[in-house]
Amino acid sequence: MRHVDVLIIGGGPAGISAAIWCKRLGIDCLLLEEQSQLGGQLFNIFNEIIDYPGMRTKNGIEMQREMVKHFVEMDCLYEVNTKVLFIDERSKTVKVKKQAKEQEICYTYLILATGSSQRKLGVPGEQQMIDRGEVYSASADGERLKGKTVAIIGGGDRAFEGAHLLSSKAREVYLIHRSTRFKAREQYVERIISNPCIKVMTDTEVTAIHGDRHVTSIDLESKNKEYKNKEYKNKEYKNLLVDAVLIRLGVAPNVDLIKGKVATAQNGLIVTDDVHQSSNPFIYAIGDSCTTPLFSSISSSAGQGAIVAKQLSSMLNI
Ligand SMILES: Cc1cc2nc3c(=O)[nH]c(=O)nc-3n(C[C@H](O)[C@H](O)[C@H](O)COP(=O)(O)OP(=O)(O)OC[C@H]3O[C@@H](n4cnc5c(N)ncnc54)[C@H](O)[C@@H]3O)c2cc1C
Repeated sequence: MRHVDVLIIGGGPAGISAAIWCKRLGIDCLLLEEQSQLGGQLFNIFNEIIDYPGMRTKNGIEMQREMVKHFVEMDCLYEVNTKVLFIDERSKTVKVKKQAKEQEICYTYLILATGSSQRKLGVPGEQQMIDRGEVYSASADGERLKGKTVAIIGGGDRAFEGAHLLSSKAREVYLIHRSTRFKAREQYVERIISNPCIKVMTDTEVTAIHGDRHVTSIDLESKNKEYKNKEYKNKEYKNLLVDAVLIRLGVAPNVDLIKGKVATAQNGLIVTDDVHQSSNPFIYAIGDSCTTPLFSSISSSAGQGAIVAKQLSSMLNI
């Protein structure tokens, strides 16, 4: 069976950084990524990235290209299209699947850099909408959504920011939230509530998304008759005609693989110490898999990659 000293799961900024540092420190290391390209969430960033020192890019794809170029130039060992299916922490082995073939890889230390994913509604029609590519960015898709009726689902900063951005472009913007309490910052909430172009529907859940070639409507279930400072009774809406749906429910760490094998916090994040060791001394976690969303970033992910590689270099006596 193949053995490596350090096995990294995940090829986003955290995993890429850890692999570069391992290479630099002379550690025998392999990175596995389930997608066909390295980069992780960088593929979802459509805004300009202005907060990574020394590299200001017009979007995430440009940063992905730069990071991967550096990674490849460093001759880091990696495999794409390779999904880790199972971790056996007792035998320190992972089971991976690459193009329908399964194999096992043995590690001395494991780094989880599996990142996070957008939370989904889990309603009929949602996955079909995503598969059709109807995934919009409020900042980048203003022109595409010009004159359209748009529903934004969520009650946090990103939902409110999206509603604000689109209110000057779209014909109508509905902000739909399942409770009456918002997680968004107070100033965002006030700005939206007082914006006559945005209809806020609280205590309302989306139960289905309809449309064959593109979204045409959504089904709503209202818990009560309440409406927020609007002349709008959400109980009347069971089916709402919309042209686009933006789901802004926040993110969840990708930790299914490791559930029950290392300690996780209530919010699902892997619990680590200051050198990113988990409750298992041979398993480390970095990036969004262990960082609260408020503090997650490309630079902190890259920094954590450096910390863990330096720590493992001393553990391996290199
Ligand atoms: C819309 C948006 C805008 C953002 N803007 C900024 C910004 O301007 N500045 C900033 O600093 N940050 C920004 N971020 C946050 C930043 O992108 C993340 O904090 C960062 O990408 C986290 O890196 P990561 O490596 O931990 O995880 P990810 O980037 O999520 O990468 C994790 C990787 O692990 C892989 N993986 C998961 N499970 C497995 C498995 N079982 N087997 C193999 N591979 C697996 C995934 O496919 C993925 O490629 C933004 C994020 C989003 C979504």
